[in-house]
Amino acid sequence: PHFHELIADPQLLKAIDAHGYEQPTPVQLRAIPQVLAGKNLLVSSKTGSGKTAAFLLPALQKILTTPTSNPESSRILILTPTRELARQIVKNAQQLLKFTHIKVGMVCGGEEFKYQKAMLRKNPEIVVGTPGRLAEHVTHKSTDFSGLDFLILDEADRMLEMGLSEDVMAIAKTCSAERQTLLFSATLEPQGIRHLIKQVVLGDAEEVV
Ligand code: AMP
Repeated sequence: PHFHELIADPQLLKAIDAHGYEQPTPVQLRAIPQVLAGKNLLVSSKTGSGKTAAFLLPALQKILTTPTSNPESSRILILTPTRELARQIVKNAQQLLKFTHIKVGMVCGGEEFKYQKAMLRKNPEIVVGTPGRLAEHVTHKSTDFSGLDFLILDEADRMLEMGLSEDVMAIAKTCSAERQTLLFSATLEPQGIRHLIKQVVLGDAEEVV
């Protein structure tokens, strides 16, 4: 299979080529069509499986091809447990977006709050961050996720282990009820993950193993 069979947007296909991806990985093959079909997903996948592009590519295609419902809101919010993971996701997103005008903002702890607030005010289409600091910005109303197309939880099991689930749930409450939710985790079994899924995923979800 080739990426052309999954992704139609020419700017994204050009970036995939430029980045040297030859064919989709198994998790990409399974997840991309479901995301494009508008489903919520629960995906069990590990680092190294190509999971980042499995959520980025279809979410990017959707925002490149459909107008926003609310220009005052970001469109994709990606929550991840650590600053290091946030950096990797931002880097991957920038590679995939290099032939577009879409902007990515990063919001992690340990960095200047005021600077982040000013950046969020400009409503970058994509926000990547850690739950603690993002929950603070939600409290301070730095930003608005009421027009969000996608809420994506990366490494949800680790966020849970790190005690971040309350922040995740507080942020999710402020996100558009019309959004798609994509939850990625090494495992989907533990009770804590099931609870988080119930709180954060609105409606039915497909499981992708
Ligand atoms: P991830 O599991 O998202 O952390 O990705 C692991 C690595 O695989 C990253 O360096 C990606 O850039 C790379 N990658 C993702 N998808 C593909 C693909 N289809 N072909 C080759 N490399 C890929």
